Amino acid sequence: MSGGCDGPGVAAAIRAVAAAIADQHVELTRLDREIGDGDHGENMNRGFKAVVAKLDADQGMAPGAVLKLVAMTLMSTVGGASGPLYGTAFLRAATAVGDTDQLDAAAVGAALAAALGGVQARGKAVPGDKTMVDALVPAAEAAQGDSVAEVLQAAAAAAHDAVATTIPLVARKGRASYLGERSAGHADPGATSTAVILGALAEAAKG
Ligand code: ADP
Ligand code: MG
Repeated sequence: MSGGCDGPGVAAAIRAVAAAIADQHVELTRLDREIGDGDHGENMNRGFKAVVAKLDADQGMAPGAVLKLVAMTLMSTVGGASGPLYGTAFLRAATAVGDTDQLDAAAVGAALAAALGGVQARGKAVPGDKTMVDALVPAAEAAQGDSVAEVLQAAAAAAHDAVATTIPLVARKGRASYLGERSAGHADPGATSTAVILGALAEAAKG
């Protein structure tokens, strides 16, 4: 097997992400209740349900078109800080992969790097600010391997490990920053959803 991923494969992986978000949305909202306004799980679940409805209606898209559809849908349905940020992430990823019919390992690594660049351009967060950037930076750095599955597995493992590193941090961006020192002691919801997304992509790529 080539280790690559075509348009239907990318669409299937995005459906797996939607299922994982649906599964974890109560926990994501619980985390956001600790240091935010308690809507992150609902926001993400609403967005990815809308994505699945659009994938049902429009099949046979190339990888970049699927990623662009995800971007546009998240931007218009998720709301909050995370909607435009994840929207930008998927839009930059779509631009990075271009109009190829088949993503290889290098393309996935480049897409992740582009996604991180988009989030940082839009949200201006740096590592240590207690945001999704704290999961995306180690994920993008770890995103290496000979196949798409290996690249995503490495990225997902790094993002998963990064969630715990956000617990002691004091938030410097987003709503959680209003809490100051009281934001310490809780995992960041956005870093957690990033780990959920990458974990689901990695699982899907194995199949
Ligand atoms: P809101 O805070 O508007 O209610 P969400 O609850 O959906 O939006 O998302 C909160 C998450 O968004 C945070 O946990 C954090 O990871 C992420 N976030 C907020 N601001 C930024 C930023 N400037 N850069 C990167 N991520 C951010
Ligand atoms: Mg919130």
